[in-house]
Amino acid sequence: MPAPPSLSAPQKALRKLGLARDIDLALHLPLRYEDETRIVALRDVQGGQAAQIEGLVTSNQVVLRPRRQLVVTLDDGTDTCQLRFFNFYPSQQKALAVGTRIRARGEVRGGFLGRQMLHPVCRAAEGALPQALTPVYPTVAALPQAYLRKAVLAGLGRADLSDTFALGMAQRLRLPAGWGLREALQFLHHPRPDTATAALEDRSHPAWQRLKAEELLAQQLSQLTSKRERDALRAPPLVGLPGGLHEQLLAALPFSLTNAQRRVGEEIARDLARPVPTHRLLQGDVGSGKTVVAALAAAVAIDAGWQCALMAPTEILAEQHFRKLIGWMEPLLAPRGLRVAWLTGSQKKKERGAMLEQVASGEAALVVGTHAVIQEQVRFRRLALAIIDEQHRFGVAQRLALRHKMQPQPDEPPGPPREPHLLMMSATPIPRTLAMSYYADLDVSTLDELPPGRTPIVTKVIADSRREEVVERIRSQLGQGRQVYWVCPLIEESEALDLTNATATHEALTAALPGVQVGLLHSRLPPADKKAVMARFEAGEMGVLVSTTVIEVGVDVPNACLMVIEHAERFGLSQLHQLRGRVGRGAAASACVLLYSPGENGRLGETARARLKAMVETHDGFEIARRDLEIRGPGEFLGARQSGAPLLRFADLEADRALLEAVRALAPAMLDHHPQLAERHVNRWLGGKSEYLKA
Ligand code: ADP
Ligand code: MG
Repeated sequence: MPAPPSLSAPQKALRKLGLARDIDLALHLPLRYEDETRIVALRDVQGGQAAQIEGLVTSNQVVLRPRRQLVVTLDDGTDTCQLRFFNFYPSQQKALAVGTRIRARGEVRGGFLGRQMLHPVCRAAEGALPQALTPVYPTVAALPQAYLRKAVLAGLGRADLSDTFALGMAQRLRLPAGWGLREALQFLHHPRPDTATAALEDRSHPAWQRLKAEELLAQQLSQLTSKRERDALRAPPLVGLPGGLHEQLLAALPFSLTNAQRRVGEEIARDLARPVPTHRLLQGDVGSGKTVVAALAAAVAIDAGWQCALMAPTEILAEQHFRKLIGWMEPLLAPRGLRVAWLTGSQKKKERGAMLEQVASGEAALVVGTHAVIQEQVRFRRLALAIIDEQHRFGVAQRLALRHKMQPQPDEPPGPPREPHLLMMSATPIPRTLAMSYYADLDVSTLDELPPGRTPIVTKVIADSRREEVVERIRSQLGQGRQVYWVCPLIEESEALDLTNATATHEALTAALPGVQVGLLHSRLPPADKKAVMARFEAGEMGVLVSTTVIEVGVDVPNACLMVIEHAERFGLSQLHQLRGRVGRGAAASACVLLYSPGENGRLGETARARLKAMVETHDGFEIARRDLEIRGPGEFLGARQSGAPLLRFADLEADRALLEAVRALAPAMLDHHPQLAERHVNRWLGGKSEYLKA
């Protein structure tokens, strides 16, 4: 919401920080505290100690050597201290005039010239000392600390802080007695000076415990509410026919399903058979075989007389799905007068027109494509199942658009409009703590088994200075008839990041590998060219494919056995893992080479090192995801799903896991028995933001 122009700069800054309501201000907690409650006698101050002193100014002068500075002498009757200011305003100099009584706070240094303070915080010694520690709030430049303190204090005074914990919840969560929301907040804003600061810093203090429990409860309640709201919606029940498409597809597949695929397939089939929209995430490591699970779900929908849409984030990925699905499904669909249609942004007008007609008539039983699938002009005749691949790359709006693609049917039973079933797929597994918190409204199925016959991938971390050896290795792979991916992080050199770009690498490899087709794929390439490059690589004509991250998801070329990632230190962990998953898909031994370039000091940064180390140490997608969460924190992990949605501010998923589990167990009963209290609680904590969680 843009701020009205009449607001002052600090008011605008408050809005920007999300501090609109009184309760928002009350929940804006200090970063740290300053102790202004005590005056220490100079005589008793140790060198290097932070202290507040009070005394009379006995001299005040600007000296020019060794640097221009204001030097003020303060005498508290036990000793004197020099206050030095290298930057100062005339007003400051005046406020520290000789004879004034002031309080100064800062680090007192001992030393050759006697006691000194550099740039202490000074104020006139008026009024009683504060009774509590002084809060220092997180803020921004346009919002002075003093202004924010006043605003928070006012918010804290006005906000409704009445207890919303029901069911003896505080006891059941083993929270220390006597710490309601009100007590916790009042304490954390203005702790008593004798408080053990360690318990404030590591957030183990009872006041913190209460706030974390409150926050986690709001999250659980809001997700549970959206889940229940969704459960009240309707969808057409989808059941496969005996001897129908689903069974025929199973019989026609060139392989048999893994146990995991079978189990997950049953979980999905159970969902689809219900008259309630499915909202399930299918997670499975790269190469675990999600596509066939999706195809089987689509077959169920088609058996039941409905259409299915499959959406992928990139054209290349969508096309791969399309070709695979055509291969599997078209022979079975054709006798039924049905087909697989294809929709993308780059399509020629005529082709697109034809496809749109098939979609509208229902002839296209399965519609595969990119974002083009959810565009305005696309009208399905009978859409009942939407499948989203790499779901984290799509936003809330796009999922909503898909859900609204279902047309009312002539045989529509009376009641609220129906929604299609939604199956989301992801190769980035969600760590358990995230699944229990941010994704608590989702049903999750996991493919925890790879199809048989995969060979393990050997991962090597190699300095870029040894590139020549890597090129040698490529030659040897090509000599054995294998193919190679070479991935570069960016297409253009930016001034800040001196990256070797894909084009330069492409040229260098072309020169180094005479007689070998070296292709180049990057996001600026027109779609038709991308397609042509991909086609030649898939056909095996092209030995090496140099590419930016466009191959990050989904491509499936079993003959490719070597993946080289240049500037691997610049990639995220999940991204590296996904890229590595492009090889090791056939029977031949595969390898992944992580080329890194150390920084100016000749060393890799700490997080980059942690990522590369994790890549060498594990191939397990769950372990990778867990470490990624550890390295990056949940914010980036959640990606598009949560953009705009509130992150946890106080609770930490790992550290507060036990509390999270306990809160989670209590949330359903609270919604059942105290719905109004629950609503008040969610509204207090999440305000208007809880809407985001519903898509
Ligand atoms: P992802 O989960 O990464 O999307 P895919 O669906 O692309 O994985 O599957 C990877 C490869 O494994 C594909 O070539 C697919 O045909 C193959 N595959 C899938 N399931 C099996 C299986 N049960 N047995 C053998 N190969 C399989
Ligand atoms: Mg896939």
